[in-house]
Amino acid sequence: MLETAHSLIIKVAKQLGLGEADVAALLKVDAKHEFLIELSRGQKYPAYRVQHNNSLGPYKGGIRFHPEVNLEEVQALATLMSLKTAAVGLPLGGGKGGVEVDPRSLSDTELEELSRKYSNYLTKHIGPDKDVPGPDVGTNSIILDWMVDEYEKQTGDKTKASFTGKSLDNGGSLGRDSATGRGGVVVLHELLRLMDKKEPISYAVQGFGNVGSFFGLIAEQQEANWHLIAATDSSGGVTGKLSPKELDEHKKTGKRLADFDNQTISNEDLVTTEVDVLVLAALGDVITEKNMKDIKAKIILELANGPVNEEAYNYLSDQGVLIVPDVLANAGGVIVSYLEWLQNRAGEQWKEAMVNKKLHAMLVSATEDIYNYSVSQKVTLKESAFAIAMQRILRANKENTHAKD
Ligand code: NAD
Repeated sequence: MLETAHSLIIKVAKQLGLGEADVAALLKVDAKHEFLIELSRGQKYPAYRVQHNNSLGPYKGGIRFHPEVNLEEVQALATLMSLKTAAVGLPLGGGKGGVEVDPRSLSDTELEELSRKYSNYLTKHIGPDKDVPGPDVGTNSIILDWMVDEYEKQTGDKTKASFTGKSLDNGGSLGRDSATGRGGVVVLHELLRLMDKKEPISYAVQGFGNVGSFFGLIAEQQEANWHLIAATDSSGGVTGKLSPKELDEHKKTGKRLADFDNQTISNEDLVTTEVDVLVLAALGDVITEKNMKDIKAKIILELANGPVNEEAYNYLSDQGVLIVPDVLANAGGVIVSYLEWLQNRAGEQWKEAMVNKKLHAMLVSATEDIYNYSVSQKVTLKESAFAIAMQRILRANKENTHAKD
């Protein structure tokens, strides 16, 4: 993942005619914090926080609790966060954290101890003006509440702006749960408008979890012309004329999507199904050299991080498939995290409609910029998003250096 991120930065730097010093500044990581968390029962877990670049503002990025977390992955994700925040115009930098642990193997007490120790270790390196971590795979609002409480105990800071993704009565933002799925709908709607595509579209969703289901539910409310024809979760899934609301209600009863009715579809078949838009909302590396030649969708929306690998991205782009990159397609989540941080700093709690309105405005503007640049420069949307982000970071870098001089 790190190699892929670096190779795209280098490719786009060549397109932009950047010099070696600029490339080095973009690849460089400001700080890597690597430590071991020991729980009172003696288990030890490697833990990380990587701060990639803060030229545009405080580092921002989630904390992952997963058995496969490692320093290189955290570094790659931190780098991608800098590009994501910059691509959508946020005054934030990029960071990422993680603990190499299976959170399901811990009791609630152990999970709390781990979370508090993680926050405690990092106290002097993070904070509302330095680095603002949030949730990621394996972490949630309960964990973030423990972390912010620990930070508060250590520093006395009561703003709650040191972490985002907190629970609602502890400084969390309305609209955060649906933000990434909602953002996907806004971005796709805007791209279809920019390309003047008015005809009905069929779509399929891989990964009908938090992001995938909100994408479907919001599309069903707002986009009468979009028709869901297949959806899967890790159990497999269903195909036919589908209602996201009915699928969501079925899932809320704890049942598997594959049991919804008897028109089932496997995950392998879903990605190669005949559909206008393929929405990938499950995992990374789902479309690779193994299945790229079988893809029939004309548009792929990357709601998961990195679901189309580099080789497949290049092949499909050459074939005329429009791939809406993760840095834009799933940026709704970090945008509402930013809005949560703003609310905490101002001591306010905004209505959900206000949060959604601001999210909408920021994503429409980012989509227009990224699309227009890709058309004018004849590059893919991902290259365009990287080019815009890299130029913003370098400009801020230079301004900060001049300010110090
Ligand atoms: P989630 O756990 O709620 O949902 C993931 C869904 O994918 C589940 O329904 C699961 O059953 C399904 N799944 C797992 N393996 C699968 C497989 N092989 N085939 C099909 N489905 C499979 O997670 P989420 O919060 O919805 O996140 C989904 C993706 O989006 C992740 O890659 C995450 O990193 C990314 N993402 C999430 C956010 C956010 O705000 N939640 C923001 C940016 C990116």
